[in-house]
Amino acid sequence: MDDEQELTCQELVELVTEYLEGALSPEDRGRFEVHLATCPGCQTYLEQMRQTIELLGRITEEMIPERAKADLLHAFRTWKRG
Ligand SMILES: [Zn+2]
Repeated sequence: MDDEQELTCQELVELVTEYLEGALSPEDRGRFEVHLATCPGCQTYLEQMRQTIELLGRITEEMIPERAKADLLHAFRTWKRG
């Protein structure tokens, strides 16, 4: 089993909405936070997702298809530049 294996950045992105909604299992949340503690990029991503959710209201996984995720990431990069 790979229980001890850290999340990748891609996996963290996939889990971020569930994390923010408190929907992760304790095990997944633990792995999420272990990755987060060592990855400034994902810390930034999480913070930006938090802000986006505040802007849009509640987000569910169904509301974020892959296209929208890409658009959000693009928007984050644009914000950073501005
Ligand atoms: Zn990461």
